Amino acid sequence: MRTIDGKTKICGLIGNPVEHTLSPLIHNTLAEVLSENLAYAPFLVQEEGLEMAVKGAFALHVQGLNVTVPYKSRILRHTVALDELAARIGAVNTLVRQQDGYKGYNTDMTGLRRAMLSDGVDIAGRKVVVLGAGGAARAVAFMCAFYKAERVYLLNRTLEKAERIAAEVNESAGRDFVQAMPLADYGRLPAGKFIVIQGTSVGLAPEGERAVIEDVAFYEKVQVGYDLIYRPFQTKFMGLVEAAGGEACNGLKMLLYQGVEAFEHWTGRTVSEALADRVYEEMKKAIT
Ligand code: NAP
Repeated sequence: MRTIDGKTKICGLIGNPVEHTLSPLIHNTLAEVLSENLAYAPFLVQEEGLEMAVKGAFALHVQGLNVTVPYKSRILRHTVALDELAARIGAVNTLVRQQDGYKGYNTDMTGLRRAMLSDGVDIAGRKVVVLGAGGAARAVAFMCAFYKAERVYLLNRTLEKAERIAAEVNESAGRDFVQAMPLADYGRLPAGKFIVIQGTSVGLAPEGERAVIEDVAFYEKVQVGYDLIYRPFQTKFMGLVEAAGGEACNGLKMLLYQGVEAFEHWTGRTVSEALADRVYEEMKKAIT
């Protein structure tokens, strides 16, 4: 059993709700295996208490915080510095203690990139299809720009939302490479094989088995399909990708690596892929 003493680094998660989070499992397992004197706890924060929570955490010498829904954008005004990618996206999920406050990072996206690289998938120079235009898909579009994807097709049920994101990302990147399309127009995608990132909430448990696109013809174009959803562990989207001969992954690795990267920021340690795999197995047990 780990002991908490006067030198324990305290980290945690702020958000609302926080009761189903896997983050304590990620960080407390990493701390235990690496003999890092760190303890991690979830903190339920109401909207009106957000500023107080960040100031209070700083006053209490909290080393770092993860930030989850609904505060990933609102937290920016309570940071003293921002990592470049987080600034571009305008969303922060990790706060790292500095001398005068917290610096904000977006390890959701560096984590997704690392999860993809650990599967041998690099978006640099590739054509990527992103399904959805909510908070997660928006961050993915910025990540594709940052890590130099060749082109992004951003498909959403509500076209205006995809158009807004495409305009923002293209302006920030200084190149016209994100193309917004109505979801129903997936048949107009050019020929070829794509990396597809499923960023809609369609198929999320406890909703029944559904995929945002059910037409098998679409899946012929998928080389690798990443569903950001991890509950259920095997989504219908993943099943359709695999049935058409593609590789499919769920969002659990993204969640794992956003945690790994936050942990590395807070401790200065490096988490090996073998250790990350071990934590992944624990997460899998916890959700299945
Ligand atoms: P969000 O902002 O609410 O966006 C939802 C998206 O889903 C929108 O693009 C919406 O389209 C689309 N959508 C919803 N119902 C639809 C339907 N019936 N048909 C077609 N499109 C539909 O949600 P978010 O925060 O971006 O999250 C999206 C997903 O990513 C969630 O499932 C979440 O669990 C997952 N996620 C995973 C991680 C991770 O660590 N793995 C992190 C963040 C998010 P409209 O714009 O037309 O409404």
